[in-house]
Amino acid sequence: MTKPAPIDLRSDTVTRPDEQMSAAMAAADVGDDVLDHDPTTRALEERVAALLGTRSALWVPSGTMGNLIALCLHLRRGDRFLAPRGAHVLAHELGSAAWLAGGMPEPLDWDAGPGRPVPAAVRANTEPDTPYDALRTTLLCLENTHNEAGGAVVPPHEHARLAAAARDAGLRVHLDGARLWNASVALGVPPAALTVGVHSVQVCLSKGLGAPVGSVVAGGEDFVQEARRVRKMLGGGVRQGGVLAAAGLRALDRIDALAEDHETARALADGLTELGWEVGAPQTNMVLASVPDTRLTLRRLRAAGVLAVPMAGAIRFVTHRDVGKADVDTALRRIRGAGL
Ligand SMILES: *Cc1c(COP(=O)(O)O)cnc(C)c1O
Repeated sequence: MTKPAPIDLRSDTVTRPDEQMSAAMAAADVGDDVLDHDPTTRALEERVAALLGTRSALWVPSGTMGNLIALCLHLRRGDRFLAPRGAHVLAHELGSAAWLAGGMPEPLDWDAGPGRPVPAAVRANTEPDTPYDALRTTLLCLENTHNEAGGAVVPPHEHARLAAAARDAGLRVHLDGARLWNASVALGVPPAALTVGVHSVQVCLSKGLGAPVGSVVAGGEDFVQEARRVRKMLGGGVRQGGVLAAAGLRALDRIDALAEDHETARALADGLTELGWEVGAPQTNMVLASVPDTRLTLRRLRAAGVLAVPMAGAIRFVTHRDVGKADVDTALRRIRGAGL
């Protein structure tokens, strides 16, 4: 007898293109995006810029590249930048913020709640009369939703106050909005309400929205013009990009459907709590569970047919469009069956 397929809750990046998306990719109108733009890529960039309330936008192959491009443009070598503790740019991008963009990272504590620093921390790190040999702090890099904090959302008024504190101190502001769509749906506000005061923002199409590849980095016209140069420098210029942008356009039709992932995450959290697990209440599509031995539990979960990943000393389950309520019920049954 073959083993039943595992239920994959490692990440919302495991989603696969459905038939509609594959058909859109196959039928995409294309040009050479490196030479003089690709029509479908351009359509995607315009649509994302409108959603985010920015003047311009640029498709990039990955969120990591989008963040790196922004940091390369905002930082000079040796500049210090601030980011909430556990931010993706600090912990999950192989140190490229330092290695390639030349930044000195300064983590900010979560004094306003999970993943959320307070404006006073921005001010405390940007005192004007520091000695000449102190670091120059030039950038605040925010993250919404905050991944390591379990998909925690930053509400619009808090975001705006952080951005304003940074701007008042002469800093630039970048937003890592890999899952900004989830924050927007969870809060019931348009994505543009969460980008107030930023100079640049990065959003992923390849997470909950289900595109196989692609992110967009957005900002003003000058920023995006320079971003295009850095993208090329990093090897991220793609020719008939419309094949990929077509998937991105299809993905953008699914923003509202993220609410289903949030519901599934709540069902999973409730089920785990009933089984005696210690889980945080999910704000979006992630469930963080604290267990005594993360590695052992992950191994037993895998043996039972449920896949998750370690995250910040806990276990992270992520719901997505390829797992429904029935799959979560099955996962819970398997977890119970394995005595976990
Ligand atoms: C996934 C993720 C990224 C990077 O996106 P990739 O496309 O995987 O490079 C950046 N920031 C956050 C918060 C993410 O979750």
